[in-house]
Amino acid sequence: MAESAIIGTTVLGRPIEALFFEPPGYARPRDPAVLFGAIHGDEAVTQMMLERLADELVERPPGRPTWIIPCLNVDGVMAGTKNNANDIDLNRHFAASNWTAKHEPGYKPGAAPETEPEVKALVDLIEHAGATRLIAVHSTYQVFNWDGRGRELAEEMARLSGYPAAGDIGYPTPGSFGSKYGVDRGLEVVTVEVPYLVIDEGAWLETRAALRWAVDLPT
Ligand SMILES: [Zn+2]
Repeated sequence: MAESAIIGTTVLGRPIEALFFEPPGYARPRDPAVLFGAIHGDEAVTQMMLERLADELVERPPGRPTWIIPCLNVDGVMAGTKNNANDIDLNRHFAASNWTAKHEPGYKPGAAPETEPEVKALVDLIEHAGATRLIAVHSTYQVFNWDGRGRELAEEMARLSGYPAAGDIGYPTPGSFGSKYGVDRGLEVVTVEVPYLVIDEGAWLETRAALRWAVDLPT
């Protein structure tokens, strides 16, 4: 059974929903995981992927406590924009040591980090859950990118999906989720990038085994 929680509201007042799944009583104790999609509103395919995963976890529970936020940037998805309703790139908005208000053209980190409600909701959930395994789902590259101690997990997920694994995505990401939780805090962070521009079942089919593996649900 999934428990549903509203973990915050967006700039425009829309609820941000998280689903919680508990492992069966006989499972070996493991640290909680948090998976989230659609931090960029133009990546709605990632919401679909995590909704599919949640559907499977209802049928069969994960091997560790698992929080899923299918859609973090609800306003962005509704508007079809990458940024949130304040026109902030939420993946440049985390209080990482490399956060800076000065960013490359096209990336808007905001005037100060972690002031946007969507990012605050995610940060609070990770804190509250004590999660150490963190999975961010994006499009439209094709890679499992790791930060912190996420390498082993990223490589196994890549193997299961046939996508490459990489420790460096090839461009600087100041204030990103991976910078804060992987580089700064050394947690197990994997960024999944699927090569789909639009909502396509293929994104789920290709990453299904990898996402299940991430929550210790054997394929
Ligand atoms: Zn993205």
